[in-house]
Amino acid sequence: MQYRRFGRTEMMLSQFTLGCMQFTRCPEPQALATVERAVELGVNHIETARGYGNSEERVGKALKRIFKTTPREDLYITTKIGPSSNVDEFKRNFDISMNFLGLDYLDNLDFHGPGSYETVAPAMSDRGCLGYVRKLMSEGVVRHFGCSTHGYPKGVMDLVNTNEFESINLHYYYFYQGLRHVVERANELDMGVFIISPNNQGGRLQLPTESLSEASAPLKPMTFNHMWLLNQPGVHTLSFGPASPEQIDDNLIAQDYDGTGPDRAIFDRVLAQVESRYRARLGEDFCTVCNQCLPCPENINIPGLLNWRQMHKAFDMTEYAQGRYAKVGSGGAWILGAKGDRCTKCGDCLPRCPEKLNIPELLWQGHQELETGEISGPAWDHEGDLLKKDLRSD
Ligand code: SF4
Ligand code: SF4
Repeated sequence: MQYRRFGRTEMMLSQFTLGCMQFTRCPEPQALATVERAVELGVNHIETARGYGNSEERVGKALKRIFKTTPREDLYITTKIGPSSNVDEFKRNFDISMNFLGLDYLDNLDFHGPGSYETVAPAMSDRGCLGYVRKLMSEGVVRHFGCSTHGYPKGVMDLVNTNEFESINLHYYYFYQGLRHVVERANELDMGVFIISPNNQGGRLQLPTESLSEASAPLKPMTFNHMWLLNQPGVHTLSFGPASPEQIDDNLIAQDYDGTGPDRAIFDRVLAQVESRYRARLGEDFCTVCNQCLPCPENINIPGLLNWRQMHKAFDMTEYAQGRYAKVGSGGAWILGAKGDRCTKCGDCLPRCPEKLNIPELLWQGHQELETGEISGPAWDHEGDLLKKDLRSD
C-alpha cells in the first residue's frame, strides 16, 4: 500500500480509504471482518458518518478488536456530521458519534455534505458549529477538520475558498472531471483531497458495461479510474465501500500504484484506447466539462447533462446515465438543476463554450436519450441549423 500526505493535516493516509456506508446493509460479523481485513491489507484511514445508520457503532466494535494488537496512532478515523444552525444538536450528534466509535479523540471530523457556502453559512461562525469544532480541536478531542460535499463546481469552490477546512471530500473522476479546478485550488491551499465513491458515482464501474470493459482492457474500468486519479499528486486518497471482506481485493488492485513503471505504460495505453472511443463516438460534439457555459438562466446543469449523454453514447453507460438523469429536478441534494427540455434556446451559453457546441441541440438530444431511451428527431430543425451556422462559421 502506498501512503500520501493528506495536505496540511500532515496525516499520511493510505491511498485507499475504507468507506463504511455499506455496513448498514450487511450482518454485523461481516462488517467487523471487513474492517479487520482492510486494516490487515494496509488501509489506515476509515471513514464513516453519523448519518450512516449503525455504521459508526460497527466501526467502533471493529476498532475495539483491532486496537488490541494495533496501536491507536496507526489508524486515522474520520466521521462526518451534518452542520446545523442548532449547535446543541451538533454537539449531541458529536457525543453520540464518539460514544459509538469508542474513541477518546477523533482524527478527522467533517461537516457532512454541504453543496455550497450558502447551505453551511449558519454554521460558520464562532457561535456556530464551527466555533464548537474549534473548541474540540483546542482540547485535542478532534485533531483535524474538513468537509464532504456532493456539490457542483461553483458551490464547492466557494467552500474551499473559505480556507476553514483542512481537507475536502468530493466527486471527481475520469468520467466526471468538472471539479478539476476545485482540486487545483484545494492543492494551492494545501488541503487534503479525498475522492468519494470513485466506483459507483464514478460511473457504476463495479458493474461495467461490455464496451467500457473492452475499451479499458487489460485494466478493469474501476482500476483504470483509480490509476487516473492516482496519477495526480494532488489527489490523496480514494474511498472504496465493500460490504464484505471478499469485495476488498478487487478494489485494491492499484494499492501499490505510484504512477510510474510498467503499470504506468499500461495505463497510458488504456487511456489512449478510452479517449479514442470517445472521439470516434462523439466526434465534434465532445463536451470537456469545463463549466464555462454556466450559469444558465433556466438552471440547467449543462456540463453534467452533456457528460451523462456522452457516457451513454460512447460506452453504453445508459443505465447509469438514465438513473442520474431521472433524479434531475427531484429536489435531492446530489442532482441539482433542471432537465434539458427546459432549455429556451436563449443562446446565453453559446459564446462561452470554447468547443463551440450547439448546446441547445445536444441538450435536447440528451434529454430524449436519457428520458425515453430514444431520439425522435431534432427539436427544431430550422433554429438548430441557424445555431450551427452561427457557431461554426467563424
Ligand atoms: S440556450 Fe438553453 S442551456 Fe443555454 S443558457 Fe439558454 S436556456 Fe440555458
Ligand atoms: S462550455 Fe461547452 S465544453 Fe464547456 S462544459 Fe459547457 S458545453 Fe461543455
